Amino acid sequence: MNRSEFIKTISSATLATGLPFPIWSLKSNECSIAMFEDMAKDDDFVIRDIDTFMLRKALFISVELNNGIKGWAEAMPNDKRSSRTLIEKTLKNYFEGTNIFDVEKTWDHCIKSEYDLGPGGLLTYSLSGIDCAVYDAMGKVTQKPVYELLGGKLRDSVEIYASFTRDVYPTPDQAAAKAIALVEEGYKTLKFRMRWGLENQDPPNDNTVDFARALRKAVGPGVQLAMDANMGHTQQRAIALGKELEEFNLTWWEEPTAPYDYSAIKAIVENVNIPIVFGEHAYTVDQIKHLLTYGGSWAVNPDLLKCGGFTGGKRIGDYIAEKRVKLVAHNSRPSLSTVCMLHWVCATKMATLPQEFALREKAPGAFDCLTGFPEFKNGRLYISDRPGLGVEVDEDQVRAYDKKYTK
Ligand SMILES: [Mg+2]
Repeated sequence: MNRSEFIKTISSATLATGLPFPIWSLKSNECSIAMFEDMAKDDDFVIRDIDTFMLRKALFISVELNNGIKGWAEAMPNDKRSSRTLIEKTLKNYFEGTNIFDVEKTWDHCIKSEYDLGPGGLLTYSLSGIDCAVYDAMGKVTQKPVYELLGGKLRDSVEIYASFTRDVYPTPDQAAAKAIALVEEGYKTLKFRMRWGLENQDPPNDNTVDFARALRKAVGPGVQLAMDANMGHTQQRAIALGKELEEFNLTWWEEPTAPYDYSAIKAIVENVNIPIVFGEHAYTVDQIKHLLTYGGSWAVNPDLLKCGGFTGGKRIGDYIAEKRVKLVAHNSRPSLSTVCMLHWVCATKMATLPQEFALREKAPGAFDCLTGFPEFKNGRLYISDRPGLGVEVDEDQVRAYDKKYTK
């Protein structure tokens, strides 16, 4: 009996008993499982419907099985209306009618058939939401937390770093005041995002150094401080600016140049004495491989909501374990995404660096719909052992937001 067959069998047994706890806690040998094997049908685990829900700054996804169980997650909402359309019109057709325990096969069929739409960006941003919701459903029917479906928990809690931005704190003094407040909340690592973007190369008003100086002075030497250029510089400017930033003891400097310009990345890595991080715009394991082969990165920061969910994330996790490159998990969505990410990070060998937390202010309303969000203490999130993602979604509230924000 392989792993997939075992999980299916265990799920059938759990469903058949109607017990609120897993049957294998009572009877763990195959003989006992076989007694229940015929009592629930494989058909129970087939996806009958995938739905999308618009929140103010989030796109929630539900995956409903024939047995009525629903898995929940969120898709990357950079363009949530386009993601919704892609899911509703195209991607759901690959998943509806399939067994959730065949998710890897279905995911492959989907991403390879729709390769011309991506392979990254909107395709994987949307696919991620479906994949993560499928895993939540798988966890619920097996009565297992998602991290167990990913191979098992390697850590009980994860340090999270607070990520904040020049958009909200536009002066060095405002950023410094927020940094002090975040440290008082318990964060031990902070990242400040300059948010230049590809459309704003080498901006004339570049005050990155002023921010770095103010932030370091505010938090002192004992707090880990990272900065994110958000792709804002040419190779030449990034090297010059990087040299100016060296004195502020940054833990890492993120995306100082375009993520696809591997020769520029290589030159920056070789000439700037700050750990350089790329990877949030690497959407597949092949793109991570190209980044590390032709560019370089001190650690990689793929985002589960950008790389196809748990199925894509597992492949990246396995690859970087082979290469012995660390993961500093990118996570720009604070609610359901944070929970998905936590399961992935807890089960991923090289994920020993802090996980991003984009602060609740980035997803107004999204937390109203959740109960059971992981406990935050001393700068760490503690994962629960509840089934699936371990959070409950208030569907009535989600539907009310959807009505309000669907235009
Ligand atoms: Mg970034």
